[in-house]
Amino acid sequence: MRKQIAAANWKMNLTLQQAEQLMDELIAIPLQLTDHQVAVFGVPFPYLIPIKSKIAGKSNLSIAAQNCYNKNSGAYTGEVSAPMLKSIDVDYVILGHSERREYFEETHAMLAEKINVCFEAGLKPIFCCGEPLQIREAGTEKTYVETQLADSLFHLSAEQLTGFIIAYEPIWAIGTGKTASNEQAQEMHAHIRSVLASKYGNDIANSISILYGGSVKANNAKEIFAQPDVDGGLVGGASLVATDFAAIINSLK
Ligand code: PEP
Repeated sequence: MRKQIAAANWKMNLTLQQAEQLMDELIAIPLQLTDHQVAVFGVPFPYLIPIKSKIAGKSNLSIAAQNCYNKNSGAYTGEVSAPMLKSIDVDYVILGHSERREYFEETHAMLAEKINVCFEAGLKPIFCCGEPLQIREAGTEKTYVETQLADSLFHLSAEQLTGFIIAYEPIWAIGTGKTASNEQAQEMHAHIRSVLASKYGNDIANSISILYGGSVKANNAKEIFAQPDVDGGLVGGASLVATDFAAIINSLK
């Protein structure tokens, strides 16, 4: 069975003291994670090492960076590279979040390079895609997402895409309290899987975890995750509350 993943995206929130308290509260709550389930904490760069140490020895808990640069080293003041993240034992990197695409003008080509440097370093990308409201209203969301996938991922080999992680996040549902309906989520996830299947074959498409993101909460996670092509979630706001994120983790199928 492909991996079922609850990924937290803390964004630019919390002081170190608040972050450590959140993790202490969360790990005190019983989590029912089986072998094919993982909880990933996407924390700000300065907290990667201290939060990693909080989850040491807990096999189904991992950390993620929220970004990395598309070059391995050099005169790029303020940036953080994939080899640097690997050297502190980071497992995952969230790439192409809509906030990075919008505020930092990340292009499809730049994201393809970021994915390459992650693979070279041995990091697992969590690749975000998803359409803005006007595209959804125009009814062209499927082709919009197809282009995001094709332009940033389709240079990858079948081997690299095996077990890959994609997060479908309709922008109109991020931080708005407006969740895609179960049917809308399932329809897009099934579409993404069929696009991957036509390029790479069914086995590879079926190995890819497709997470849903956009106002996932403790009270709606179970029904969204129950959809056959939804393999967990990428969670912003609700991941900042220990009891809520624990309930979301415990909603994985
Ligand atoms: C996100 O930032 O990826 C996200 C889905 O946020 P929220 O859960 O707050 O909508």
